[in-house]
Formats: sequence, C-alpha cells, structure tokens
Amino acid sequence: MFKQFFDTESSTYTYFILDEATSEALLIDPVASQIEVYLAILKATNAQLKYTLETHVHADHITASGQLREKLAAQTGVSALCGAASADLQLKHNDILMLDKQHINVIATPGHTLGSVSYLWHDRIFTGDALLINGCGRTDFQGGDAGTLFDSITNLIFSLSDETLFYPGHDYHGKRVSCVGQEKAINPRLANQTRDDFIAMMAALNLPKPKLMDIVVPLNRRCGITEDTIQQG
Ligand code: FE
Repeated sequence: MFKQFFDTESSTYTYFILDEATSEALLIDPVASQIEVYLAILKATNAQLKYTLETHVHADHITASGQLREKLAAQTGVSALCGAASADLQLKHNDILMLDKQHINVIATPGHTLGSVSYLWHDRIFTGDALLINGCGRTDFQGGDAGTLFDSITNLIFSLSDETLFYPGHDYHGKRVSCVGQEKAINPRLANQTRDDFIAMMAALNLPKPKLMDIVVPLNRRCGITEDTIQQG
C-alpha cells in the first residue's frame, strides 16, 4: 500500500509505504505538523511504523521523525553525511532497508545537500529535493554543489528505466508524480543542458535564504526534537 501526503505550509510531500503481509510500514520525509495524519493512517491500517527515512536534513520544515521514534519506536534513518548524529540509521549509498520482503535501496544523490539520498522502491524513486518535477533543488547551502547535483541526476537517477516513477520532495504547482523518461525529455534544468550550462543556471538563481533555516536545520539534525518537546512527551 502506498500513500502520498502533502503539507501545504512547506509544500512538502511525505510518502507512506505499508507491507500489508506483515503490517510493517515506513514514512519518507514526515513533517512534524502533520503527525496526526500519520498516526491516523497507521491506526486505520493497523500498521507498525518501522522506519522514518529522510532524503536530507531539511531547511524548510521540521521533521516528525524524533516524535515518531518517541511515540512508536520507529527507527530514524538519514545519510551519514548529514551530521544528524541522533538518527538511529546512518545511511550510505547502496544500503538496503527491508520491510519484510520489500527492498528499499538507498542511492546517494548529493548536490542539493552533501547528504542528500534518494530511495528506490520497486519502480518508484523518491528523490527529495535532488530532482523536482520540471526542476531541481537549490545548491547554495548545506554543502550543496551544482556540478555534483548534475552528476547525481544524470549518472544515477537518469540511469533508471524511463518508466521509473519519480516522486519529488516538494512541488509548488500541484504536480504529484512524473517519470524518469519525462524529466530527461522536458525538465528545463536538465534536458539538452550541459554540465556547465547547469552550473551557470544554478549560480544565477540568487534565491533568498529559507526563513527558518537557522532554526530548522540544527533542530532536524536532532530528528526535530527540542528539549521542550521531550518534556511535553
Ligand atoms: Fe531541501
């Protein structure tokens, strides 16, 4: 079973995968303010949350992973390169997570941040902010690098079959899913662009810094948990 959730505040997508044979489940990029939605689907499906997986340490929303660990003992997973020492699973390229017989492959796709990873499950890839529908994540902070992102997308994500469904970490225009072949053909940042074109395009963006970044990034390195939330339970 598969569900896509959306947080309107940060335009973040969260993904829920449930192995119905064993009732084991995982969430990718859960958002703290949406925790009741996740608890409700877990209850409705009688599922046990095994993992919460981050595609990277986010700068625009607080992760629910620490709260879900406290409430449900779900293991938190994030790339070992994210500096999130409190996470249970320090993930590396080619790691495999299991929900019974379901494989979730960890693919390191750095460039948006140094520790950005994508998760491949059957014919679906969850790319966080590495690749977005008709776009890609910014590359100007948290160890981001445009050339590295171009290499991650073109060498790894675009090496998957064209039919691979691609689910982004955000969308700001209501788009929910694309596929590798479509992004290769029409993504304006990547289709028919050289590595140098891409680097120049990313350098010219001049985006403002996310408003809450200085608070949110350190908090997310602690799985979104402040001392206050620990005291409140
Ligand atoms: Fe991001």
